[in-house]
Amino acid sequence: MRTINDFIWSVVLQQNDPSDRKPVDSVHTYIVEFDGAAGIEWGNNINVSSLYLKGVEGDVKTQFTGLMYHEMTHVFQWDGEGTAPSGLIEGIADYTILKVYDNPYGFANPGDGDSWDQGYTVTARFLEFFEYAVINDAATTPGGTRFNNEIGVCKAKQIMATANSFILYAIFQQSYPSDQKAIDLVNLYIEEVKFPLTVTWGNNNINFSSIYMAGFKGDLKREFMANVYHEMTHVLQWTGNGNAPPGLIEGMAEYTKLKANLTQPGFAEPGQGDHWHQGYDVTARFLEYCEGITPGFVAKLNKMMRFRFEFKYFKDLTGKPVYQLWLDYKVKYGQCCN
Ligand SMILES: [Zn+2]
Repeated sequence: MRTINDFIWSVVLQQNDPSDRKPVDSVHTYIVEFDGAAGIEWGNNINVSSLYLKGVEGDVKTQFTGLMYHEMTHVFQWDGEGTAPSGLIEGIADYTILKVYDNPYGFANPGDGDSWDQGYTVTARFLEFFEYAVINDAATTPGGTRFNNEIGVCKAKQIMATANSFILYAIFQQSYPSDQKAIDLVNLYIEEVKFPLTVTWGNNNINFSSIYMAGFKGDLKREFMANVYHEMTHVLQWTGNGNAPPGLIEGMAEYTKLKANLTQPGFAEPGQGDHWHQGYDVTARFLEYCEGITPGFVAKLNKMMRFRFEFKYFKDLTGKPVYQLWLDYKVKYGQCCN
């Protein structure tokens, strides 16, 4: 409960100054035999149904923890002195769960539901939506118009949210917010520029060229997704405080694209390329090979790169120095000449 308490104040409600907070001295939890709900919060007290716990399918501890995140949010949240829609109140409580677990059990998908204040997981997904801003500064240009017609702001935000979960949970395996970079909002701008085609700048901004979109031949939505997965990796990845080789940084971004099945024509085949930090698709294929030697390699490497970068991380993780790994990799795919 102590962990949940800190999490809700700092990550969800962001009231770090105690004077902003609802005064709560103590919270009591009772396990009570009652029907009709899993849990109920009443005046700083939480009742958890023993009947619900008995009927839980799967891991009781996980379900109980999720329930406690939900009920503890009710203890701490404001409710407009009782005037806030109950669906919003329940949505905020489930939003807390969404911040803790990737795709929590039984959750709505982004975009599901009939109204924003339907409550619980539907409203939680709607609230999640505000973490992404899409600004089309080129709406009157051919590329900006094509973006609006073939993708649109709403779909773009959903793609960003999906990419975010995929990168944090599947690629980097950072289940806890304390492991993750603190990013509140990601902005995606559609800009009328020739170059760069796409770029990440600052901590949390992505630019996408409308001129590139205007000239792109093929499925623009898929192309947009591929680029969003790449750029969102830059937003979320560690860089060893800026000391990691740029080729490795770009390789990790392409690795995300590879694992999401979003590679574009011309993407390197396994074994191609001249050196491990050549970048982009070449390095992505090499990282895939390292992943085969040490499962979770990319997640572990990223974690090690939080504060600094050292070449020996490769050896720490696989038992072999990186130059040896690269040679073995080339040999495996019959690409080595000497
Ligand atoms: Zn990049």
